[in-house]
Amino acid sequence: LPNSIEARDVAYHLHSYTDARKHEEAGPLIVEKGEGIYVEDNNGKRYIEGMAGLWSVALGFGEQRLIDAATRQMQKLPYYHTFTHKGHGPSAELAEKLVNMAPVPMSKAYFTNSGSEANDTAIKLIWYRSNALGQPERKKIISRVKGYHGVTLAAASLTGLPNNHRSFDLPIEGVLHTTCPHYRTMKKEGESEQDFAKRCAVDLEELILKEGPETIAAFFAEPVMGAGGVIVPPDGYWEAVQPVLKKYDILFVADEVICGFGRTGNMFGTETYKLQPDIMTLSKQLSSSYMPVSALLVNEKVYGPVADESHKIGVWGHGYTGSGHPVGAAVALENLKIIEERDLISHVRDISPQFMKRLKQLGEQDMAVEARGIGLIGAVEFAHEKAPDVGAVGGRINRAMQERGLISRNMGDALAFCPPLIISEAQVNEMFDIAEAAVADVAKDLG
Ligand code: PLP
Repeated sequence: LPNSIEARDVAYHLHSYTDARKHEEAGPLIVEKGEGIYVEDNNGKRYIEGMAGLWSVALGFGEQRLIDAATRQMQKLPYYHTFTHKGHGPSAELAEKLVNMAPVPMSKAYFTNSGSEANDTAIKLIWYRSNALGQPERKKIISRVKGYHGVTLAAASLTGLPNNHRSFDLPIEGVLHTTCPHYRTMKKEGESEQDFAKRCAVDLEELILKEGPETIAAFFAEPVMGAGGVIVPPDGYWEAVQPVLKKYDILFVADEVICGFGRTGNMFGTETYKLQPDIMTLSKQLSSSYMPVSALLVNEKVYGPVADESHKIGVWGHGYTGSGHPVGAAVALENLKIIEERDLISHVRDISPQFMKRLKQLGEQDMAVEARGIGLIGAVEFAHEKAPDVGAVGGRINRAMQERGLISRNMGDALAFCPPLIISEAQVNEMFDIAEAAVADVAKDLG
Protein backbone atom coordinates (compact mmCIF):
# COMPACT_ATOMS: atom_id res chain seq x y z
CA LEU A 1 0.00 0.00 0.00
CA PRO A 2 1.50 3.35 -1.04
CA ASN A 3 0.66 5.08 2.22
CA SER A 4 1.54 2.21 4.56
CA ILE A 5 4.23 2.62 7.22
CA GLU A 6 6.28 0.06 5.29
CA ALA A 7 6.11 2.09 2.07
CA ARG A 8 6.95 5.34 3.83
CA ASP A 9 9.81 3.66 5.65
CA VAL A 10 11.25 2.35 2.39
CA ALA A 11 10.77 5.76 0.78
CA TYR A 12 12.32 7.96 3.46
CA HIS A 13 14.35 6.05 6.01
CA LEU A 14 18.00 5.11 5.67
CA HIS A 15 18.43 2.26 8.14
CA SER A 16 21.44 1.21 10.18
CA TYR A 17 23.22 -1.96 9.09
CA THR A 18 20.90 -2.37 6.15
CA ASP A 19 21.71 -2.82 2.51
CA ALA A 20 19.91 0.21 1.07
CA ARG A 21 19.84 -1.54 -2.31
CA LYS A 22 17.78 -4.40 -0.88
CA HIS A 23 15.63 -2.67 1.69
CA GLU A 24 12.50 -2.75 -0.42
CA GLU A 25 12.61 -6.47 -1.17
CA ALA A 26 13.64 -7.50 2.35
CA GLY A 27 10.89 -5.22 3.63
CA PRO A 28 10.93 -3.44 6.97
CA LEU A 29 9.56 -5.26 10.00
CA ILE A 30 7.56 -2.59 11.76
CA VAL A 31 7.47 -3.30 15.48
CA GLU A 32 4.57 -1.65 17.21
CA LYS A 33 4.59 -2.71 20.82
CA GLY A 34 6.20 -4.99 23.34
CA GLU A 35 5.51 -6.78 26.60
CA GLY A 36 8.00 -8.85 28.58
CA ILE A 37 10.18 -10.83 26.18
CA TYR A 38 7.72 -10.39 23.29
CA VAL A 39 7.21 -7.72 20.65
CA GLU A 40 4.35 -7.41 18.19
CA ASP A 41 4.45 -6.07 14.64
CA ASN A 42 1.89 -3.84 12.97
CA ASN A 43 0.05 -6.89 11.64
CA GLY A 44 -0.47 -8.27 15.13
CA LYS A 45 2.15 -11.00 14.75
CA ARG A 46 4.04 -11.79 17.96
CA TYR A 47 7.75 -12.54 18.23
CA ILE A 48 10.08 -13.56 21.01
CA GLU A 49 12.73 -10.82 21.09
CA GLY A 50 15.61 -13.29 21.27
CA MET A 51 18.15 -10.45 21.09
CA ALA A 52 16.59 -8.19 23.74
CA GLY A 53 16.52 -5.55 21.01
CA LEU A 54 20.21 -4.93 20.51
CA TRP A 55 21.51 -7.04 23.44
CA SER A 56 20.02 -4.49 25.73
CA VAL A 57 16.44 -4.67 27.02
CA ALA A 58 17.37 -6.45 30.25
CA LEU A 59 14.01 -5.94 31.95
CA GLY A 60 11.96 -6.72 28.85
CA PHE A 61 9.38 -4.45 27.28
CA GLY A 62 6.70 -2.53 29.14
CA GLU A 63 8.34 -2.28 32.57
CA GLN A 64 6.01 0.20 34.24
CA ARG A 65 8.50 1.34 36.87
CA LEU A 66 10.89 2.59 34.18
CA ILE A 67 8.05 4.39 32.43
CA ASP A 68 7.03 6.00 35.74
CA ALA A 69 10.62 7.00 36.55
CA ALA A 70 10.92 8.71 33.15
CA THR A 71 7.56 10.44 33.55
CA ARG A 72 8.36 11.76 37.03
CA GLN A 73 11.69 13.14 35.87
CA MET A 74 10.17 14.64 32.71
CA GLN A 75 7.69 16.52 34.87
CA LYS A 76 10.27 17.72 37.37
CA LEU A 77 13.22 18.62 35.15
CA PRO A 78 13.11 17.27 31.59
CA TYR A 79 16.55 18.50 30.71
CA TYR A 80 19.61 20.03 32.12
CA HIS A 81 23.25 19.71 31.17
CA THR A 82 26.40 18.82 33.05
CA PHE A 83 28.87 21.31 31.52
CA THR A 84 30.97 23.85 33.42
CA HIS A 85 30.42 22.65 36.99
CA LYS A 86 26.63 22.43 36.66
CA GLY A 87 24.54 19.36 37.22
CA HIS A 88 21.44 17.84 38.77
CA GLY A 89 20.37 15.11 41.16
CA PRO A 90 19.93 12.13 38.83
CA SER A 91 23.38 12.37 37.21
CA ALA A 92 25.12 12.86 40.58
CA GLU A 93 23.25 9.91 42.05
CA LEU A 94 23.92 7.69 39.06
CA ALA A 95 27.62 8.56 39.11
CA GLU A 96 27.79 7.62 42.80
CA LYS A 97 25.82 4.43 42.21
CA LEU A 98 28.04 3.25 39.34
CA VAL A 99 31.30 4.04 41.11
CA ASN A 100 30.04 2.09 44.14
CA MET A 101 28.82 -0.83 42.03
CA ALA A 102 32.10 -1.24 40.16
CA PRO A 103 33.80 -4.55 40.94
CA VAL A 104 37.24 -2.90 40.93
CA PRO A 105 38.10 0.48 42.50
CA MET A 106 36.88 3.31 40.29
CA SER A 107 37.06 7.06 40.91
CA LYS A 108 34.66 8.80 38.55
CA ALA A 109 31.84 8.25 36.12
CA TYR A 110 31.51 10.23 32.89
CA PHE A 111 28.23 10.18 30.96
CA THR A 112 27.63 9.77 27.24
CA ASN A 113 24.67 8.67 25.10
CA SER A 114 25.83 5.53 23.29
CA GLY A 115 28.40 2.78 23.53
CA SER A 116 30.29 4.35 20.64
CA GLU A 117 30.50 7.68 22.43
CA ALA A 118 31.62 6.00 25.65
CA ASN A 119 34.49 4.30 23.80
CA ASP A 120 35.37 7.44 21.84
CA THR A 121 35.41 9.39 25.07
CA ALA A 122 37.63 6.75 26.67
CA ILE A 123 40.16 7.21 23.85
CA LYS A 124 40.07 10.99 24.21
CA LEU A 125 40.50 10.76 27.96
CA ILE A 126 43.42 8.37 27.51
CA TRP A 127 45.08 10.76 25.03
CA TYR A 128 44.39 13.72 27.30
CA ARG A 129 45.97 11.81 30.18
CA SER A 130 49.06 10.93 28.12
CA ASN A 131 49.47 14.64 27.35
CA ALA A 132 48.88 15.58 30.99
CA LEU A 133 51.62 13.10 31.97
CA GLY A 134 54.00 14.65 29.45
CA GLN A 135 53.98 11.46 27.34
CA PRO A 136 52.53 12.72 24.05
CA GLU A 137 54.03 9.78 22.14
CA ARG A 138 51.89 7.32 24.14
CA LYS A 139 48.74 7.37 22.01
CA LYS A 140 48.39 4.05 20.19
CA ILE A 141 45.49 1.82 21.07
CA ILE A 142 45.20 -1.93 20.59
CA SER A 143 41.91 -3.80 20.19
CA ARG A 144 41.10 -7.16 18.66
CA VAL A 145 40.02 -8.56 15.33
CA LYS A 146 36.24 -9.13 15.53
CA GLY A 147 35.94 -6.91 18.60
CA TYR A 148 32.95 -4.55 18.44
CA HIS A 149 33.19 -1.15 20.05
CA GLY A 150 30.85 1.00 18.00
CA VAL A 151 30.74 3.06 14.84
CA THR A 152 31.87 6.64 15.44
CA LEU A 153 35.24 7.33 13.84
CA ALA A 154 37.45 6.24 16.73
CA ALA A 155 35.11 3.52 18.03
CA ALA A 156 34.68 2.13 14.51
CA SER A 157 38.47 2.04 14.29
CA LEU A 158 38.58 -0.03 17.47
CA THR A 159 35.97 -2.35 16.03
CA GLY A 160 37.77 -5.15 14.24
CA LEU A 161 35.24 -6.03 11.55
CA PRO A 162 35.70 -5.38 7.81
CA ASN A 163 32.25 -3.81 7.30
CA ASN A 164 33.08 -1.08 9.77
CA HIS A 165 36.40 -0.21 8.08
CA ARG A 166 35.90 -0.92 4.39
CA SER A 167 34.64 2.11 2.50
CA PHE A 168 35.22 4.44 5.43
CA ASP A 169 39.02 4.65 5.17
CA LEU A 170 39.30 3.29 8.70
CA PRO A 171 40.91 2.50 11.08
CA ILE A 172 42.36 5.87 12.00
CA GLU A 173 46.12 6.00 12.49
CA GLY A 174 47.39 4.47 15.68
CA VAL A 175 44.60 1.96 16.24
CA LEU A 176 45.94 -1.60 15.92
CA HIS A 177 44.29 -5.00 16.07
CA THR A 178 45.55 -8.17 17.67
CA THR A 179 44.43 -11.80 17.38
CA CYS A 180 40.78 -12.74 17.71
CA PRO A 181 40.49 -15.24 20.55
CA HIS A 182 38.25 -17.67 18.70
CA TYR A 183 39.74 -21.09 19.39
CA ARG A 184 37.91 -23.12 16.73
CA THR A 185 38.81 -20.89 13.79
CA MET A 186 42.17 -19.53 14.94
CA LYS A 187 43.88 -22.54 16.54
CA LYS A 188 46.83 -24.23 14.90
CA GLU A 189 46.71 -27.96 14.28
CA GLY A 190 47.00 -29.88 17.53
CA GLU A 191 47.04 -26.71 19.64
CA SER A 192 45.21 -27.02 22.97
CA GLU A 193 42.83 -24.31 24.14
CA GLN A 194 45.29 -23.28 26.86
CA ASP A 195 48.16 -23.10 24.39
CA PHE A 196 46.03 -21.07 22.00
CA ALA A 197 45.17 -18.66 24.83
CA LYS A 198 48.87 -18.27 25.61
CA ARG A 199 49.63 -17.66 21.94
CA CYS A 200 47.08 -14.84 21.87
CA ALA A 201 49.04 -13.20 24.69
CA VAL A 202 52.32 -13.76 22.83
CA ASP A 203 50.81 -12.17 19.70
CA LEU A 204 49.78 -9.18 21.79
CA GLU A 205 53.22 -8.85 23.31
CA GLU A 206 54.90 -9.10 19.90
CA LEU A 207 52.69 -6.31 18.56
CA ILE A 208 53.53 -4.13 21.57
CA LEU A 209 57.25 -4.73 21.11
CA LYS A 210 57.10 -4.12 17.38
CA GLU A 211 55.35 -0.78 17.86
CA GLY A 212 57.41 0.21 20.92
CA PRO A 213 55.81 -0.19 24.36
CA GLU A 214 56.28 3.52 25.10
CA THR A 215 53.87 4.32 22.25
CA ILE A 216 51.00 2.08 23.41
CA ALA A 217 48.45 3.76 25.65
CA ALA A 218 45.64 1.25 26.04
CA PHE A 219 44.04 -2.07 25.17
CA PHE A 220 40.28 -2.28 24.57
CA ALA A 221 38.35 -5.54 24.83
CA GLU A 222 34.93 -6.94 25.58
CA PRO A 223 35.00 -9.62 28.29
CA VAL A 224 32.94 -11.77 25.86
CA MET A 225 32.87 -10.58 22.25
CA GLY A 226 29.31 -9.85 21.21
CA ALA A 227 28.64 -8.54 17.71
CA GLY A 228 31.78 -10.25 16.39
CA GLY A 229 29.89 -13.53 16.84
CA VAL A 230 29.56 -14.13 20.61
CA ILE A 231 33.11 -15.32 21.08
CA VAL A 232 33.67 -16.63 24.58
CA PRO A 233 37.36 -16.36 25.50
CA PRO A 234 39.27 -19.64 25.60
CA ASP A 235 40.36 -21.10 28.90
CA GLY A 236 43.27 -19.17 30.33
CA TYR A 237 42.93 -16.23 27.92
CA TRP A 238 42.51 -13.39 30.38
CA GLU A 239 45.03 -14.95 32.77
CA ALA A 240 47.59 -14.78 29.94
CA VAL A 241 46.67 -11.39 28.46
CA GLN A 242 46.39 -9.25 31.58
CA PRO A 243 50.01 -9.70 32.75
CA VAL A 244 51.23 -8.49 29.34
CA LEU A 245 49.29 -5.24 29.82
CA LYS A 246 50.66 -4.86 33.34
CA LYS A 247 54.22 -5.55 32.18
CA TYR A 248 54.16 -2.61 29.75
CA ASP A 249 51.94 -0.37 31.87
CA ILE A 250 49.18 -0.32 29.28
CA LEU A 251 45.72 0.81 30.37
CA PHE A 252 43.00 -1.81 30.10
CA VAL A 253 39.55 -0.70 28.95
CA ALA A 254 36.86 -3.34 29.51
CA ASP A 255 34.01 -2.67 27.11
CA GLU A 256 31.10 -3.86 29.24
CA VAL A 257 28.48 -2.45 26.87
CA ILE A 258 26.96 -5.93 26.36
CA CYS A 259 28.34 -7.87 29.34
CA GLY A 260 27.50 -5.23 31.95
CA PHE A 261 24.52 -5.60 34.31
CA GLY A 262 24.09 -9.33 34.49
CA ARG A 263 24.50 -10.78 31.02
CA THR A 264 27.27 -13.26 31.90
CA GLY A 265 25.83 -14.28 35.29
CA ASN A 266 27.61 -11.61 37.32
CA MET A 267 26.88 -7.91 37.46
CA PHE A 268 29.89 -7.35 35.15
CA GLY A 269 31.93 -9.49 32.76
CA THR A 270 34.88 -8.08 34.71
CA GLU A 271 33.82 -10.27 37.65
CA THR A 272 33.15 -13.35 35.52
CA TYR A 273 36.69 -13.24 34.13
CA LYS A 274 38.48 -11.63 37.09
CA LEU A 275 39.57 -8.60 35.09
CA GLN A 276 41.39 -5.55 36.42
CA PRO A 277 40.31 -2.78 34.06
CA ASP A 278 41.33 0.86 34.47
CA ILE A 279 38.27 2.00 32.53
CA MET A 280 34.90 0.31 32.05
CA THR A 281 32.49 1.45 29.33
CA LEU A 282 28.80 0.84 30.04
CA SER A 283 25.56 1.21 28.10
CA LYS A 284 22.64 -0.89 26.84
CA GLN A 285 21.41 -2.79 29.93
CA LEU A 286 22.36 0.23 32.06
CA SER A 287 18.92 1.64 31.21
CA SER A 288 17.49 -1.49 29.55
CA SER A 289 17.71 0.84 26.52
CA TYR A 290 14.52 2.65 27.55
CA MET A 291 16.65 5.78 27.22
CA PRO A 292 19.99 6.19 25.44
CA VAL A 293 22.44 6.34 28.35
CA SER A 294 26.05 5.29 28.51
CA ALA A 295 28.95 5.91 30.82
CA LEU A 296 32.57 5.27 31.47
CA LEU A 297 34.09 4.55 34.83
CA VAL A 298 37.71 5.51 35.30
CA ASN A 299 40.07 4.61 38.11
CA GLU A 300 42.50 6.85 39.94
CA LYS A 301 45.34 5.89 37.62
CA VAL A 302 43.40 7.48 34.78
CA TYR A 303 41.69 10.27 36.67
CA GLY A 304 44.62 11.34 38.87
CA PRO A 305 46.81 12.82 36.10
CA VAL A 306 43.76 14.44 34.50
CA ALA A 307 42.87 16.25 37.73
CA ASP A 308 46.48 16.98 38.67
CA GLU A 309 46.91 20.72 39.16
CA SER A 310 50.42 20.73 37.73
CA HIS A 311 49.51 19.81 34.16
CA LYS A 312 49.34 22.63 31.69
CA ILE A 313 47.14 21.29 28.91
CA GLY A 314 43.96 23.18 29.64
CA VAL A 315 40.42 22.10 30.39
CA TRP A 316 38.94 18.71 29.49
CA GLY A 317 37.32 20.11 26.37
CA HIS A 318 34.78 17.40 25.83
CA GLY A 319 31.09 16.91 26.50
CA TYR A 320 27.74 16.11 24.91
CA THR A 321 24.54 18.10 25.18
CA GLY A 322 22.99 14.88 26.47
CA SER A 323 25.81 13.90 28.89
CA GLY A 324 24.11 12.77 32.09
CA HIS A 325 20.63 13.59 30.76
CA PRO A 326 18.33 13.70 33.81
CA VAL A 327 15.62 11.49 32.30
CA GLY A 328 18.16 8.93 31.12
CA ALA A 329 19.88 8.98 34.51
CA ALA A 330 16.57 8.61 36.38
CA VAL A 331 15.62 5.63 34.23
CA ALA A 332 19.05 4.04 34.67
CA LEU A 333 18.83 4.46 38.46
CA GLU A 334 15.41 2.80 38.56
CA ASN A 335 16.62 0.06 36.21
CA LEU A 336 19.58 -0.73 38.47
CA LYS A 337 17.30 -0.68 41.51
CA ILE A 338 15.02 -3.25 39.88
CA ILE A 339 17.94 -5.46 38.82
CA GLU A 340 19.09 -5.49 42.45
CA GLU A 341 15.66 -5.78 44.12
CA ARG A 342 14.62 -8.69 41.92
CA ASP A 343 18.07 -10.24 42.19
CA LEU A 344 18.26 -10.69 38.44
CA ILE A 345 21.85 -11.89 38.72
CA SER A 346 20.67 -14.99 40.61
CA HIS A 347 17.87 -15.37 38.09
CA VAL A 348 20.41 -15.40 35.22
CA ARG A 349 22.43 -18.04 37.06
CA ASP A 350 19.29 -20.14 37.62
CA ILE A 351 18.16 -19.95 34.01
CA SER A 352 21.57 -20.20 32.34
CA PRO A 353 21.97 -24.01 32.62
CA GLN A 354 18.76 -24.57 30.64
CA PHE A 355 19.73 -21.84 28.16
CA MET A 356 23.13 -23.44 27.65
CA LYS A 357 21.63 -26.94 27.40
CA ARG A 358 19.23 -25.88 24.66
CA LEU A 359 21.97 -23.86 22.91
CA LYS A 360 24.21 -26.95 22.83
CA GLN A 361 21.31 -29.07 21.54
CA LEU A 362 20.75 -26.58 18.74
CA GLY A 363 24.48 -26.86 18.10
CA GLU A 364 24.03 -30.59 17.46
CA GLN A 365 21.35 -30.14 14.80
CA ASP A 366 21.82 -30.52 11.08
CA MET A 367 24.18 -27.89 9.63
CA ALA A 368 25.41 -26.71 13.04
CA VAL A 369 29.14 -26.29 13.46
CA GLU A 370 29.59 -24.84 16.95
CA ALA A 371 27.58 -23.59 19.94
CA ARG A 372 29.16 -21.15 22.35
CA GLY A 373 27.88 -19.06 25.19
CA ILE A 374 27.83 -18.10 28.85
CA GLY A 375 25.15 -16.75 31.17
CA LEU A 376 22.32 -15.64 28.88
CA ILE A 377 24.32 -14.89 25.75
CA GLY A 378 25.15 -17.42 23.08
CA ALA A 379 25.47 -18.20 19.41
CA VAL A 380 25.26 -21.24 17.18
CA GLU A 381 27.22 -21.26 13.97
CA PHE A 382 25.98 -23.08 10.87
CA ALA A 383 27.37 -24.12 7.50
CA HIS A 384 25.97 -25.81 4.42
CA GLU A 385 27.82 -26.74 1.24
CA LYS A 386 24.93 -25.58 -0.95
CA ALA A 387 25.08 -22.08 0.56
CA PRO A 388 28.80 -21.46 0.86
CA ASP A 389 28.83 -17.64 0.81
CA VAL A 390 29.44 -16.05 4.19
CA GLY A 391 26.09 -15.28 5.78
CA ALA A 392 24.05 -17.28 3.26
CA VAL A 393 22.94 -20.05 5.65
CA GLY A 394 22.86 -17.65 8.58
CA GLY A 395 20.61 -15.25 6.69
CA ARG A 396 18.23 -18.03 5.67
CA ILE A 397 17.96 -19.33 9.22
CA ASN A 398 17.46 -15.82 10.51
CA ARG A 399 14.53 -15.31 8.12
CA ALA A 400 13.07 -18.72 8.98
CA MET A 401 13.20 -17.85 12.67
CA GLN A 402 11.47 -14.54 12.05
CA GLU A 403 8.85 -16.33 10.00
CA ARG A 404 8.18 -18.61 12.97
CA GLY A 405 8.09 -15.77 15.47
CA LEU A 406 11.58 -15.47 16.87
CA ILE A 407 13.86 -12.48 16.39
CA SER A 408 17.50 -13.50 16.39
CA ARG A 409 20.39 -11.98 14.48
CA ASN A 410 22.88 -13.60 12.17
CA MET A 411 26.42 -12.43 12.35
CA GLY A 412 27.68 -14.14 9.24
CA ASP A 413 26.49 -17.70 9.78
CA ALA A 414 26.32 -17.48 13.57
CA LEU A 415 22.84 -16.98 15.02
CA ALA A 416 22.87 -15.05 18.28
CA PHE A 417 20.65 -15.51 21.34
CA CYS A 418 20.62 -12.78 23.95
CA PRO A 419 17.10 -12.58 25.41
CA PRO A 420 15.89 -10.16 28.07
CA LEU A 421 17.32 -11.23 31.43
CA ILE A 422 13.79 -11.69 32.80
CA ILE A 423 13.17 -14.69 30.51
CA SER A 424 11.70 -17.74 32.26
CA GLU A 425 12.79 -21.34 31.80
CA ALA A 426 9.58 -22.12 29.87
CA GLN A 427 10.29 -19.18 27.58
CA VAL A 428 13.87 -20.37 27.03
CA ASN A 429 12.37 -23.64 25.83
CA GLU A 430 9.83 -21.83 23.66
CA MET A 431 12.64 -19.81 22.08
CA PHE A 432 14.81 -22.82 21.25
CA ASP A 433 11.83 -24.90 20.07
CA ILE A 434 11.21 -22.22 17.45
CA ALA A 435 14.91 -22.01 16.61
CA GLU A 436 15.12 -25.79 16.10
CA ALA A 437 12.05 -25.82 13.88
CA ALA A 438 13.43 -22.94 11.81
CA VAL A 439 16.79 -24.68 11.36
CA ALA A 440 14.94 -27.84 10.30
CA ASP A 441 12.96 -25.77 7.73
CA VAL A 442 16.18 -24.49 6.17
CA ALA A 443 17.92 -27.88 6.29
CA LYS A 444 14.94 -29.39 4.46
CA ASP A 445 14.93 -26.59 1.90
CA LEU A 446 18.63 -26.98 1.18
CA GLY A 447 18.27 -30.77 1.09
N1 PLP B 1 30.53 -1.79 22.54
C1 PLP B 1 29.92 -2.98 22.43
C2 PLP B 1 30.50 -4.17 23.11
C3 PLP B 1 28.73 -3.09 21.71
O1 PLP B 1 28.13 -4.27 21.58
C4 PLP B 1 28.19 -1.94 21.10
C5 PLP B 1 26.93 -2.00 20.34
O2 PLP B 1 26.43 -3.05 20.02
C6 PLP B 1 28.88 -0.74 21.22
C7 PLP B 1 30.03 -0.70 21.96
C8 PLP B 1 28.38 0.51 20.55
O3 PLP B 1 27.24 0.96 21.17
P1 PLP B 1 26.24 1.98 20.41
O4 PLP B 1 25.57 1.19 19.34
O5 PLP B 1 25.31 2.39 21.50
O6 PLP B 1 27.06 3.09 19.91
